[in-house]
This record gives sequence, C-alpha cells and structure tokens, in this order.
Amino acid sequence: MNFDKDIQDNTTIFGKILRGEIPAEKLYEDDYVLAFKDIMPKARVHVLVIPKKCIQDLRVAGPEDAEILGHMMCKISEIAKLAGLDKGGFRIISNNGEHSGQEVPHLHLHLLGGEFLPKF
Ligand code: 5GP
Repeated sequence: MNFDKDIQDNTTIFGKILRGEIPAEKLYEDDYVLAFKDIMPKARVHVLVIPKKCIQDLRVAGPEDAEILGHMMCKISEIAKLAGLDKGGFRIISNNGEHSGQEVPHLHLHLLGGEFLPKF
C-alpha cells in the first residue's frame, strides 16, 4: 500500500511531521506507521503511534482499515521495546472526538510508561 497522497493531503500537525516539514524525535517508521516522541510528555516515556493513512479517528475507521489498524497494534510491542517499555509495561490511550479531548484530528495511539502510572 502506498500512502503518499494521504501524506500530502494531511492538513494536521502530524501531516507536517510525516512530510518532514517540522522535526520529530522518531523511534520507528515503516510503510504504514510512524512512531515519535510526544512534544509534551504526560509520562516519563510518551510516544505517539500514527498511521500514514489519513484516518481522523476510530469513529470513521472501517473494514477497509483493518490491515493498517492491525499493523499498528502488532507493531506496538516492537515500538515499546525501542522506547524501553517492554520490561515495565505500558498504557495505550486513544482519544477520539470532542468528548475525549482529542486535539489532533489524525488517529494516534498514546504509548505511555517508564514509571508507575496513576490507576485508570
Ligand atoms: P490528543 O490530545 O489529540 O489525543 O493528542 C495529541 C498529542 O499530540 C498531544 O499529546 C500533544 O502533546 C502532541 N503534539 C501536538 N503537537 C505536536 C508536535 O508538533 N510534535 C509532537 N511530537 N507532538 C505533538
């Protein structure tokens, strides 16, 4: 799958990161996903994992996105290991829509860890 057009059309701040227009501390990248450190970490380790396809959030994801969403989830353990989270574990959060407080309208998983996190 090629997501060049999605990347070009992505009007969010994550689009700028995907196009290399603004810097980001990248941990992992492949044809489907990019993982980079959050600019305002909410835990000792805070990584964002995003699909290269333009998907606003999970409310608009459909069966056609099964491959890329499955890939994202399957890559989490590898990304967590790169971030040093494999031993202590981690939490994944995904904000979807206004009530969740989602700020960037491009689907992303927050990967949080590196310390004991408050009970959720
Ligand atoms: P949301 O609130 O949409 O679930 O999460 C968006 C996340 O993107 C926030 O945790 C915020 O700190 C992060 N973020 C926003 N702008 C940038 C940026 O320019 N670079 C990076 N690395 N993270 C960003």
